[in-house]
Amino acid sequence: MNKSIENRAEDLLEEFNVVVPGHFVGTKGGHLDTYVQKDVTIADPWLLKEITGLMAEKVASGYEQGDIDALVGIAPCSSQLATRTAEHLGDMWGKAPEIAFAEKTPWLSTREDTSTIDETLEFKRGFAAKLVGKKVLLVEDILNTAGSLIDLRNLVSSIDDIEIKGAVVEFNRSPSRNTSESLGMSLLSLVSREMANHELDDCPMCEQGIPVRTDLGHGARFLEEQAKRR
Ligand SMILES: [Zn+2]
Repeated sequence: MNKSIENRAEDLLEEFNVVVPGHFVGTKGGHLDTYVQKDVTIADPWLLKEITGLMAEKVASGYEQGDIDALVGIAPCSSQLATRTAEHLGDMWGKAPEIAFAEKTPWLSTREDTSTIDETLEFKRGFAAKLVGKKVLLVEDILNTAGSLIDLRNLVSSIDDIEIKGAVVEFNRSPSRNTSESLGMSLLSLVSREMANHELDDCPMCEQGIPVRTDLGHGARFLEEQAKRR
């Protein structure tokens, strides 16, 4: 039986622990039923090849050669997804789309008496000039709040005579929030899965006494703080 593109991708992401089910504490203290290790995909050449092969199949299900001139990602993760996906599309279409990537430049933001490191997304290396007049597809690894993808869309939109055809993402962890409608462009997600994010006093996993994982996420810090309170 032939599995769908989505099912093959889900199997790979679980097998390689990109997607780990369990009881985790997130950056903002919410309790999560799944943890996503996004760097694993680009750290394994074989997995990167397979995942981008599936992303290319997904793109080819919605677009034909000639619809897209260039794939655009953000360095370092999504730019690698873009490059390898374009390579696979070249095998399918006989001609690979071009590549461009944006980079995050950190800068020191000083407001009143607090200084924080902020980031500006920008094109370097002549990529902005290369994209003038092109039809582009944006590439992103994980969509949570979609903040990075929206920043990329806004940056790309500022280029003259450019046409954004849509976006392809490896993993959409909030498909109810992140849709083609909400993003204002066609969205193809390789894997879409709504992930639970519970408040501490409303966490069914805590209620069932399932231990918090301390090897991934912020579980260790959470347990330390819990111990101090007792
Ligand atoms: Zn919990």
